[in-house]
Amino acid sequence: MKKMKFALTVIVLVFLVLQYSFIAQAQNISKNQTNKNTKKENNMKTTDKFEFQALPYAYDALEPFIDKLTLEIHYGKHHKAYYENFLAAIKGTEMESMDIMYIFRNISKYPVAVRNNGGGYYNHTFYWEGMKASGGDLPTGKLSDAITKSFTSFDEFKKQFSDAGKTRFGSGWAWLSLDDKGKLFISSTPNQDNPLMDLTEKKGTPLLVMDVWEHAYYLKYQNKRPDYIEAFWNVVNWEEVAQRYEKALSQVSK
Ligand code: MN
Repeated sequence: MKKMKFALTVIVLVFLVLQYSFIAQAQNISKNQTNKNTKKENNMKTTDKFEFQALPYAYDALEPFIDKLTLEIHYGKHHKAYYENFLAAIKGTEMESMDIMYIFRNISKYPVAVRNNGGGYYNHTFYWEGMKASGGDLPTGKLSDAITKSFTSFDEFKKQFSDAGKTRFGSGWAWLSLDDKGKLFISSTPNQDNPLMDLTEKKGTPLLVMDVWEHAYYLKYQNKRPDYIEAFWNVVNWEEVAQRYEKALSQVSK
């Protein structure tokens, strides 16, 4: 009888210990979950406005036209540095709560660090999103018609855009943009300037951009910028460019 009592006590004790550890574990899980959620919310508060967007494809996705190592360094080092320096340049100023489009429209009023790093941050995101793996088909629909109308043919457009990149002395960008009358135009900007900036000669809404800084091509193409430019046409994301065009056009006609 004593033995039975003892065994029963052990069973009850084991049951209680198991139950306690189960409850403790469950509480821990829910505590971790809360921590995670709070962390996520905090992160969102600090980065939802000026976010360092993920590259929309893998580093090797644009091979062989743009190589993996170039993309790793270009995105992970150059672009990241512009982003971080932009955040540092606007920290504690009114710009922290502004839209980047507004900052660009008034860029001449702000320090040159904002112009260079804000441009570097924005232009690169725009450049990544304008490319894709196995891109390079011809533009279709409204965009195709507009390109033919503005430049007489797609080949002529390609030539003019390529020339804008080839003839940019030093570092900069080649752009296809829409002006405020709804007309397409090609331009090039030095350094990290873009057509959204008030001090840019030819202003408009960007549709397609090509980075012609040496860091965009030097590892694979060295001094042969024209070869990189020729390769660029194989990775243009024309669907994205067409969407940008329709959006820009709808805002012009408003
Ligand atoms: Mn670049």
